[in-house]
Amino acid sequence: MLNLILFGPPGAGKGTQSEKIIAKYNLIHLSTGDLLRSEIQAGSELGLKAKTLMDQGLLVPDEVVIGMIDHKLKTHRDAAGFIFDGFPRTVKQSEALDNLLASYNESISVMVALVVDDNELLARLLKRGLTSGRPDDQNEELISKRIQEYNSKTKPVADYYQAQGKFVPVDGIGEIETIFSEISNAISAVK
Ligand code: ADP
Repeated sequence: MLNLILFGPPGAGKGTQSEKIIAKYNLIHLSTGDLLRSEIQAGSELGLKAKTLMDQGLLVPDEVVIGMIDHKLKTHRDAAGFIFDGFPRTVKQSEALDNLLASYNESISVMVALVVDDNELLARLLKRGLTSGRPDDQNEELISKRIQEYNSKTKPVADYYQAQGKFVPVDGIGEIETIFSEISNAISAVK
């Protein structure tokens, strides 16, 4: 199996590159942000609780997202592999993911990290907010809060996989195709 973590701050281009990776490698896309937004859409209790936090630019509790990923791994036992997008976002989530995969005799193949500076992220997210309909993209203070959450809680996840020798940084500024080909190279190296 190919188990890829696509890592990077909000607005780094994970969604765009995910689509291209999925098409090329036939992976199942697991985006915790998308899964949470589906719960909100469905009006579930989990969705209502998550929305309060997401609307403030805060992370939702680890147990909630770990539970969603656990469920998805169980329902796709025949997958060629997974792309984890927006997860893991804390070291606790990383440890849980490693344990879940280990219970299937699987592991993370590689973490590809899209590198984009904070000013560029802010500009991209404000632009996305004009069309995405996402409330968390429409206000500069909220975007800064998300970038702050990323810097304090999520960045250590990169060190966690670096320590396993699985961390590959890719410049996230430039042509979409150029970035994609760098990601493809990183995947080829472990496939
Ligand atoms: P972005 O990376 O552009 O901020 P996402 O769609 O990945 O967007 O996430 C949107 C929001 O959903 C986050 O700000 C956070 O509140 C919540 N969220 C998504 N994934 C996780 C996660 N793995 N752990 C905690 N909260 C999450």
